[in-house]
Amino acid sequence: MKITRVAAYQVDLPLHEGSYKWSGGKSVEVFDSAIIEVETDSGMVGYGEVCPLGPFYLPAYADGVRAGIKELAPHLLGCDPTHLDVLNRRMDAALKGHPYVKSGIDMACWDILGQVTGQPVCHLLGGRYGEDFVLYRAISQESPDEMAAKVAGYRDDGYRRFQLKVGADPQLDIERIRLIADLLEPSDKLIADANTGWLMHEAARVVRAVDDIDVYIEQPCLSYDECLSIRRRTSHPFVLDEVVDGLDMLLRGHADQAMDVVNIKISKFGGLTKARLARDLCVSMGVAMTIEDSWGGDITTAAIAHLAHSTPTEFLFTATDFNSYVTVSTAEGAPQRVYGRMSASDSPGLGIAPRKEVIGNRVVDAH
Ligand code: MG
Repeated sequence: MKITRVAAYQVDLPLHEGSYKWSGGKSVEVFDSAIIEVETDSGMVGYGEVCPLGPFYLPAYADGVRAGIKELAPHLLGCDPTHLDVLNRRMDAALKGHPYVKSGIDMACWDILGQVTGQPVCHLLGGRYGEDFVLYRAISQESPDEMAAKVAGYRDDGYRRFQLKVGADPQLDIERIRLIADLLEPSDKLIADANTGWLMHEAARVVRAVDDIDVYIEQPCLSYDECLSIRRRTSHPFVLDEVVDGLDMLLRGHADQAMDVVNIKISKFGGLTKARLARDLCVSMGVAMTIEDSWGGDITTAAIAHLAHSTPTEFLFTATDFNSYVTVSTAEGAPQRVYGRMSASDSPGLGIAPRKEVIGNRVVDAH
């Protein structure tokens, strides 16, 4: 089987809540998502999606996905999409770095491999653990009262894990954590995600002030070393996200005992092939994971579901259903949240079919 065409579509994904805000005053109102299409000489077509969290979260931006696909595509025509390791080495040889650009192509090729073998991608990634898996809800940064009201509402919808966007004024963040912890049951989980927003002295104040509360602390500071410094002065369970982008950082973090949980974002690692490797390494090291991506719609959510559902249940801290945050559905067959939980499709591949009327015309087209 040979790749005969690599194309990209551009889709705007507005948010049900109007905007999504996190540390440092960063916010997004409409996500710019790239849907990637890989066609083959057999007639089989696979789809992937890459949606950066704006241009100021990770070193990734939406136009960069499309520019990168244009650069990479000519090197991939004629390759076998089902030979995923060969394909990934080819992408790495043709374009140094830029893992997020490669993620959508890799995802689309897993979709093709699933269709060729008649298997859902989660079976190919290791098998299905249980009936479904647990989701978290990210709570956009607002006043403590507004965030508390959102948590109460989403708890009524069935969510039991809440990731608060903190990383602002420490005093206000302490208030946010205290107020919301009061609303939750002991079996719920609360994560305070500063998204690199605190300096060390601020993070130190916050973790000490909420010492009596059962809360996970996520990526308090910008650098790995700053996070490690905070990790060493708190007893809270500790999550690393932005600074963990490959196996080298996972191994370093493990050696330093720098984290209890890591966030595996598919595009941050460069696709399902590399995210699976990171997932399996985490399992072997005893590190739990949140399986997600930077953002996305139906296709990203389907890919997350397949990776999450094939992750041993006790290691899956939580996962994300991005398609319930956005107002536009880009594909049929995508997994849907049911009372704070989700499952991967039983259909071959990713189990999705793009809505052509929504994704429009190709904006990158190499064939
Ligand atoms: Mg995070």
